[in-house]
Amino acid sequence: KVPRVLVIGSINMDLVSYSDRIPSLGETILGNRFAMVPGGKGANQALAAARLGASVSMLGAAGKDSYGEQLLQHLNNNGVDISRVKRADTSTGVALINVDARGNNQIVVIPGANNELAPEDLLQNREIFEACDVVVLQMEIPMATIGQAIELASGYGKLVVLNPAPAHEIPEAWLSKIDYLVPNEHEADLLGHVKDDFYFSIRRHLKKSLVITQGAKGVSFSEGKTIVFIPALKVQAVDTTAAGDAFIGGFSVALAEDRSMEEAIKFASAAAAISVTREGAQTSLPYRKEVEEFSGG
Ligand code: ATP
Repeated sequence: KVPRVLVIGSINMDLVSYSDRIPSLGETILGNRFAMVPGGKGANQALAAARLGASVSMLGAAGKDSYGEQLLQHLNNNGVDISRVKRADTSTGVALINVDARGNNQIVVIPGANNELAPEDLLQNREIFEACDVVVLQMEIPMATIGQAIELASGYGKLVVLNPAPAHEIPEAWLSKIDYLVPNEHEADLLGHVKDDFYFSIRRHLKKSLVITQGAKGVSFSEGKTIVFIPALKVQAVDTTAAGDAFIGGFSVALAEDRSMEEAIKFASAAAAISVTREGAQTSLPYRKEVEEFSGG
C-alpha cells in the first residue's frame, strides 16, 4: 500500500543575502549574491516525505501574494497535495537571512500566514486526518493549532510524530497523545527540565518513543526502559541544512509503511545522510530510489 502522510506546518520563502560581512546598525552595504529558496519546516518535511514515496497532504497557510503562489506551485510540482492549504490575507511567511563570508548568519523570521492557521481550519479538514496513516508536526505554527492537530490525529487513532523545532516547551497534556517525539540534541536539552530525569520524565508519558537525533553521531531512541543507539552513516558532509527535515520525512514514511522502529530509523538516517552530502535545504532532499541504492537495496 502507498504510505499516507499528513504534514501540518509552516510554509516559508527564505530570502538569503550573501555579503562579506553583516552590516552594523543603520549601515547599508553592498552584498555579493541573493537567493530565494523555498523553506519552512512543514514544507520541507512534506516534500521530503513525498520524494521518499508517500502520498502526502499538507495543511498550512500561505499568503495571497506571489511567494505564496510560487511555494504552493513548487510543493505541487513535487507531488504534495496542497489543495487544502489556506490562503490568508497576510503575507506569506518569510525568513530574511544575511550570511557573511565566514558563513555566520543573522535571521529574522516573519511567520505571517503561518500564524493564521487556526484550530478551526483543521476541524474543517477532518477527513484528511481520517485518510492518513501518520500525522507530522513541528513548532512553526500556533500552539493552539498544534494542540488541535494532536487531538484530532490521536482521536482517529493515527500515529503522531512531533518534531519540537524550533525548541519550545511542550504542554504535558500533549505527551500522552504523541507517539514519537523527535527533537535534535539541542531541542532535547531545552525540553529537559532536569537533565538526569529527562529521558524518563518525558518518555514515560509518550505513547511510543522519544527519538533524539544527534547529528553526525546518530540517533538514540527509547524502547521501554532502555535506550537504543543507531550510529549515523558515514558520509562526506557538505551542508547539513535540512538533515533534520530529511530524517523526519523518512521516519514518517517508514512508520506509515508499518516498518519496525529500527528499520524506520535506518531508512530516515540514510535519507538524512544523503541530504548532508548536498547543498541547500529542499534541493538536498533525496528520492526514494536514491535511498534504496544508498542502503544497498
Ligand atoms: P539540521 O538543523 O541541520 O537540519 P537537525 O539539527 O534538526 O538538523 P541533526 O541531529 O543535526 O538534526 O541531524 C538529523 C539526522 O541527520 C541525524 O540524526 C543523522 O541521522 C543525520 N546527519 C546529520 N549530520 C550528519 C552527518 N554529518 N553525517 C551523516 N548523517 C548526518
